[in-house]
Amino acid sequence: MVKQPVFLDNNSTTPCDPRVIEAVVDVLKRHYGNPSSSIYPQGWYAEELVQIAREQVAALIHAASEEIIFTSGATEANNLALKGLVRQAAEKNSSPPHFVTAATEHRSVLDPLASLAQAGASVTILPVDSSGVLDVKDFARALRRDTICASVMLANNEIGALHDIAAFGAASKAAGALLHTDATQALGKISLDIQSLQVDFMSLSAHKVYGPKGVGALFVARSARNLLKPLIDGGGQEQGLRSGTLNVPGIVGFGKACAIAQQELDRDRDHLSSLAGRFGDFLQAALPGVSLNGPLTGRLPGNVNFRIEGIDNARLIAATQTKVALSVSSACQSKSKTPSYVLQALGLSEAEQRQSFRAGIGRFTTVEEVDFAVEVLATAVKSIRAGK
Ligand code: PMP
Repeated sequence: MVKQPVFLDNNSTTPCDPRVIEAVVDVLKRHYGNPSSSIYPQGWYAEELVQIAREQVAALIHAASEEIIFTSGATEANNLALKGLVRQAAEKNSSPPHFVTAATEHRSVLDPLASLAQAGASVTILPVDSSGVLDVKDFARALRRDTICASVMLANNEIGALHDIAAFGAASKAAGALLHTDATQALGKISLDIQSLQVDFMSLSAHKVYGPKGVGALFVARSARNLLKPLIDGGGQEQGLRSGTLNVPGIVGFGKACAIAQQELDRDRDHLSSLAGRFGDFLQAALPGVSLNGPLTGRLPGNVNFRIEGIDNARLIAATQTKVALSVSSACQSKSKTPSYVLQALGLSEAEQRQSFRAGIGRFTTVEEVDFAVEVLATAVKSIRAGK
């Protein structure tokens, strides 16, 4: 018997890897020093642990360690990149900046941009195609002389659509604009190389890569370091970009999670892709009227977003939630009654949005769990269809 509920929501978060837990507990038990207190050994050790973690995070994206600014997660990293640029630019010139982004970005990109727009910035939100991909030519056309920065996510958290960020990077460079990418969902699933992606800023989060919650990072390219102003002022930690005593256990856990992800990237990717394929194929074989939302090929490993004809997602979730943990859109939206704006951007009707579900396979998902989940869903759908 599999342990229930089977966790099939690894795009919302991931369980901590036991090796990460061990590293975090060791810090909590033994290394309580403040890394800023570099005048005695407890402080040195903590500082050294943070530096090791910084190198581990940097290595996974092929960046330099001083380009990693630790934050409380990707939400803060996204806010720091976008608002930090405006804060700095405001000191130099008074003309309101322009941003370009896509309709399917995470709320932690769209909402900071909306608040910047309220404060006078102009923001172009571009539509995506029916598989959730932003066309790079549309993107290039939207860049203007006053575009300070564009923000295009590497992998979408709901539908697993991937963007060829290197192409967006090249287009941004050609137009003289900066590029930020939210790579939260891609980290540890796709190999990321800052050099070839040509991005100035990249947001990351530990809890999507089997690390702890409440810690993440913003990659800030050396060339862009002086373009940002902090959102949090204080003790001047993280090169003055993010004040506050460092979350040493969280940072060490994030570093360890990145080191593991780097070693096991190929295995994780193959495992995620193979089980996501099995889940989708078996569900389609078990039930008529199941179709995939988002791209059919080339999607984020492990992500499956599907529609079941005639089945209300809230009803199916209520019938299965104690056996299988699935979601209807993103975790941040799961309490809201409005359908997903991401699915809406693909052109799905409201009825289709309400028949959609997201499953996320993770490193610890097993074949047995996938088969069990398919069986639970198929049984529940058949009983709903039979009017029971
Ligand atoms: N961006 C994306 C694409 C995400 O999936 C998430 C997590 N749902 C975030 C940003 C926010 O990350 P965090 O939870 O670390 O703030």
